[in-house]
Amino acid sequence: MRPALAIPTLSISRTAPTAITIPTVPTVSAPPRFNFAGYCDYCYQHGCQSPTCIAKHAATYWAVCPSCEGRGLDDQDDCCESCFRGVVEVFPGWPGAVSA
Ligand SMILES: [Zn+2]
Ligand SMILES: [Zn+2]
Repeated sequence: MRPALAIPTLSISRTAPTAITIPTVPTVSAPPRFNFAGYCDYCYQHGCQSPTCIAKHAATYWAVCPSCEGRGLDDQDDCCESCFRGVVEVFPGWPGAVSA
């Protein structure tokens, strides 16, 4: 005769969750070299693998746009002229600049 299977026991936690995970503030990141449709922002070729474009993009630095403070909008709720969705290209020494 086979031994009886043990009845699984349910353990129900009656304690409240101890911590709520608060999302961290996203960090500044450089725009990708391709747009959302896959076109290179430098030569406008789809799926570009040009070393020149790759090097150009890799040499860029980006920081939060001082005009819209990163919202990607100006006071008239239009996109800023020189910012790309909240970041602007800056010189390497710019405070908070991140490289691409
Ligand atoms: Zn390209
Ligand atoms: Zn802006």
